[in-house]
Amino acid sequence: MIFENRFRGQVAIVTGGGSGIGLGIGKRIAQEGGTVILADINERALAKTQGALGDLPGPVATLRTDVSSEAEARRLIRFAEEQFGRLDVVVNCAGIVGVTATNIDEYDLASFCKVLDTNLIGSFLITKYALRAMLPRGYGRILLLASISGKEGNPGMAGYSVSKAGVIGLVKAIGKEVAHTKITVNGLAPALVDTPLLSDASDEALAYMTNRIPMGRLGTVEETAAIACWIVSGEASFNTGAVFDLSGGRATY
Ligand code: NAD
Repeated sequence: MIFENRFRGQVAIVTGGGSGIGLGIGKRIAQEGGTVILADINERALAKTQGALGDLPGPVATLRTDVSSEAEARRLIRFAEEQFGRLDVVVNCAGIVGVTATNIDEYDLASFCKVLDTNLIGSFLITKYALRAMLPRGYGRILLLASISGKEGNPGMAGYSVSKAGVIGLVKAIGKEVAHTKITVNGLAPALVDTPLLSDASDEALAYMTNRIPMGRLGTVEETAAIACWIVSGEASFNTGAVFDLSGGRATY
């Protein structure tokens, strides 16, 4: 169910907005009247979104951004302020899975650092500069995509699991730092959601993760966008530093 005016007058940045969950969340915020900036490292993916999202009520802009670069993260936040005069919502979906089915004794350091740079350092940088824009205005909603792997750990995926555990730590610490303001910082920890990300995971890793979902199916982008949009709406005013589950029953704590 779409809430027509939920984001009217608001400006939202969605990183990783060229694909999967980020694209789905960006689309829904625009459908609900918000102005959306889709940021992604993949320029070709961003170009394709222009056609797909053309007729939505809220305007949609794109900016090629590598969230692991401090200069580019800062530029993205500045872009929102200069082009649209404000920043209300930031959803950080940029992420990579890295190598899978690889135990630590074979896990290459460069691969480990790459996953941490994208998933964790990217989350840190985007949140840091988003807060600099939001604090003076006294309102904001920041959502970071974590993962069930950050809570439970997935074997053969140390880099990804560690990066997402780090994101959970970031959410908990920063949520408390700004709890006295009207800015909230929350996380979302999905199990498996049907997106292009899964094509980078091995069959073994996919089977491990799917078999642990009691509902016996993957989540959808629409289901993810539904909870994400509530978390970043004005209505979600008493949740901060929280990590929400979205796991078809896998997470019970
Ligand atoms: P996806 O691959 O469809 O989208 C991720 C996007 O991030 C891609 O468009 C990619 O180009 C972009 N990206 C990668 N590195 C980037 C960088 N350095 N800077 C900017 N953009 C970058 O994947 P998705 O499933 O939509 O994942 C979105 C988020 O949700 C990720 O953080 C992922 O870890 C998390 N997540 C996904 C699942 C799942 O099952 N799909 C489960 C748990 C968590």
